[in-house]
Amino acid sequence: MVVTTSNRCVCPDCDWVVDVPVTSTEVFKCPRCGHRLGGGAPVSERHTLALALAALILALVSLWLPFVGYSASGVSQTMSLLDTSAELLHFHERLLAILVLFTVWVVPVLYLLAICWIFTRLLGSGPLGPVTLYFIRAVVQLRVWMMADVFLLGALVSLIKISGLAAVELASGFYTFIAFVVLQLWVANNVSRYQLWHRLPHQQAPQSEAGRAAHNQGLSGCVCCQAPNSRQHKKCWRCGETLSLTRWRGWRLTLALLIAAALLLVPAHVLPVMETTSFGRTQPNTIIGGVLELWQGGDAPIAIIVFVASLVIPVAKILTLLVLLYVAERGNDSTVKNRVVLYKVTDWIGRWSMIDIFVVAVLVALVRSGQLMSVYPGNAALAFALTVILTMLAAMTFDTRRFFMPTTK
Ligand SMILES: [Zn+2]
Ligand SMILES: [Zn+2]
Repeated sequence: MVVTTSNRCVCPDCDWVVDVPVTSTEVFKCPRCGHRLGGGAPVSERHTLALALAALILALVSLWLPFVGYSASGVSQTMSLLDTSAELLHFHERLLAILVLFTVWVVPVLYLLAICWIFTRLLGSGPLGPVTLYFIRAVVQLRVWMMADVFLLGALVSLIKISGLAAVELASGFYTFIAFVVLQLWVANNVSRYQLWHRLPHQQAPQSEAGRAAHNQGLSGCVCCQAPNSRQHKKCWRCGETLSLTRWRGWRLTLALLIAAALLLVPAHVLPVMETTSFGRTQPNTIIGGVLELWQGGDAPIAIIVFVASLVIPVAKILTLLVLLYVAERGNDSTVKNRVVLYKVTDWIGRWSMIDIFVVAVLVALVRSGQLMSVYPGNAALAFALTVILTMLAAMTFDTRRFFMPTTK
């Protein structure tokens, strides 16, 4: 096992300084908290580049091709992926339109472009320049906001919702979008940033000792590449990330974000998420009303998915983070690993709440303002989207190193 200072890192979850073997084909976990720090089967750079390029082409094609079509009472309509944002914009829901376009298409495309750039440079013989370093940092940040897979589930839910009222037909864009989601997920799950860091130019790392908390050695781990850095420095010696981001985060911002999210959850569930006009009669639909409709219509599994995504996940996420904030102040004990696991599950699951927003976006785009039936976005849609974003930000500002604080002081 070859260990050099270049793969010495600081665990982002518990602040422990660890030597990570570069060449290990087995997954390497932090001995203190179990966070994955490296290892695993290496992925071919050519392979990754080819798949990222294919995903990019599929993303471009999917944006313009017809996505799904429906026909009812002799009226047919088709929509493209771009229509989801265009129709929200038409109804003056600018923020929602931007949110949908960015999370479903723009961010994944930027991510794939960055991956293509990085792997083209890695395959070349020249040194990696500052642009490549910037992109390597960017892919870490962009990953959180990629939601094409959540959109796909949302699209399926909305098609099942509408299938009782109209004949739904999947168009070519739907299949290219599925292929895009699969490839994009493969790339995102297989590009190991741990494999990227040790390819970066190696400079002198500050003195550090493995098996001790970085905090106790006057060091802090870079949020991006996890290299140990002296607290006096402004930028990470390895990846160039700003080191002010590595400072220990207090509980106040997380708590403020959680309170704001909890408050917004009320209008999100009381106000209509969309309004349906059918044969001259307008009917407001709340999120829970939609769940009941699905349940009564015999679509119990879909009703459960929407119920879990729209109510159970946001409420559970807010409560779990509040409890974790509280217990983080109560010292280190045998449950500390469980807390980290609980935090990670909470953090990962939150994005799936966006299903509701994507259901509204697809239904509004697909049905549009027809003579027989129209669907309009309601005020709850924005409130709910903001709840999801705020809980995601709350999870991002939560500092799991606080669980380990009493022993690191
Ligand atoms: Zn750790
Ligand atoms: Zn770094």
